[in-house]
This record gives sequence, structure tokens and C-alpha cells, in this order.
Amino acid sequence: MKNGYVHSIESMGTLDGPGIRTVIFFQGCPLKCIFCHNIDTNIPNQGKQYSVDELFEKVIKNKEYWEQNDGGITLSGGEPFAQPEYVLEFAKKLKDKDIHIVMDTCLKTTKKNIESFLRYIDLWMISIKEFDNKKHTELTSSSNEDILENVKFLDDKISELNLESNIRIRFVVIPGITDYDELIEKLGDFCYNINNFESLELLPYWSQGKNKWYEIYGEYKLENVRDGTKEDLQKFERKLKHLNLNIKY
Ligand code: SF4
Repeated sequence: MKNGYVHSIESMGTLDGPGIRTVIFFQGCPLKCIFCHNIDTNIPNQGKQYSVDELFEKVIKNKEYWEQNDGGITLSGGEPFAQPEYVLEFAKKLKDKDIHIVMDTCLKTTKKNIESFLRYIDLWMISIKEFDNKKHTELTSSSNEDILENVKFLDDKISELNLESNIRIRFVVIPGITDYDELIEKLGDFCYNINNFESLELLPYWSQGKNKWYEIYGEYKLENVRDGTKEDLQKFERKLKHLNLNIKY
């Protein structure tokens, strides 16, 4: 197994999954979201190299914290599926120790990759950006057709194999861009139809990553967009109230 590329590791994360977690930001991502606040993770084969064993030894020291705080490991990025074999080996090693694993993903990957991870992931946190394919492409430089299909595929597989894992949908609310009524409605219906749905997590857009954009690409397309607020998220909650979804923010 070749070494993997890791952008960074956060040992006391409280924002990416339940409890206190060690969050590993893997390098590489197939999307290029114009609102990404970690756009430097998007470049492949950069960051620090670790063998699977080295990475495991580095993080396993936190096991006690995870156990005391109902936490575990979150595989994040970038996109963990950008290095599928490596991250799978790592996930297997964690599962051998019975560690709770969250997969924070955009799910732009193959069905084969999703299948290979099924038995190791406790919570799938999938970030959905848009439902309209044209708008999705403008936002991420990539189509959403396979992503939406993959969520359905994953949901069906979890049910078919009777797994205990769940799906959390994450959605970044960008004022004036991803907060229009039709999109909110589609997001609600989409979540409502997921059988293994855990929650919808709304995240306010923040411009914190713009300096990295200027450094790497010399531009930032959302320069004139304000950061999202709690009120922006509450609007989603109000509009989706009738569906009785578990909504977090
Ligand atoms: S999927 Fe996530 S990591 Fe990848 S470009 Fe989009 S926001 Fe950034």
C-alpha cells in the first residue's frame, strides 16, 4: 500500500460528527466548489505523507477521549474517496478496534468504492450542494447526477444489508445563491425520501477561505456575497417544518 496524503489533522473536533472527534483532512477532491473554505485540500499529492500504520499510530492516542465523549474518527478532506484504497485500509484498521467512523464526503465516486466502505462507516455525512445540474456545475465545476444517484444507491445498500449506519445530509446555505424556495423544497423532499436518514445539517456559508483562493487561483467568485447567519438557517427550518425532519445547525 502506497502512502496517503494528509492535509491536516484536528484532534479535538466538535463540528464534524457526534462527540469529540479526531478529524483527518485527506488531500484531493474531485470538485472545485466556489465556496470551499479549504480549497488547498483540492490539489492532489500534497500535504504530509503517512503510511496507514503511521497514521493509525498517530491518531489512536486519542482513543480514550473518543470513548469518554461518544466520539471517534471523522474521515474528511478534501475528499476521502480521492484516495480510496488508502482510506479504506485505514478505516478497516480503525474498525478492528471498534472505533466509531464518520465519512464526510461529497460522494463523487464510484458505486464500487461506496460498496467497499459500507461495513466500516457508522455515519455518512454527505454534502449536497445543489439539485439543479446546471447550477451545480457552476458551483462545483462538476455534474451532480452521479452524486444524487450515489446517495440513493448507498441508502438502498444500507437497508438491503441491514446495516446500522445512517445518513446525514449537509448543506451550505449561501445567501442569494443556495437559499431559494424551490431548492429548499427539493432539499426537504430529498431528505424525506432517505430511508436511513439521521439529520439535515445546515451550515452557513463563510468567506474565511477566500485568501487561499486568491493565493492558488488568483480569484474568489463570492467576493460580494455576505456570510450566512443563523436567520438564514432558520428560514430553511421554517420552510421545512411540515416534513418533521431532524434539522441541526
Ligand atoms: S467538496 Fe468539499 S472539499 Fe471539495 S471543493 Fe467542495 S467544499 Fe471543498
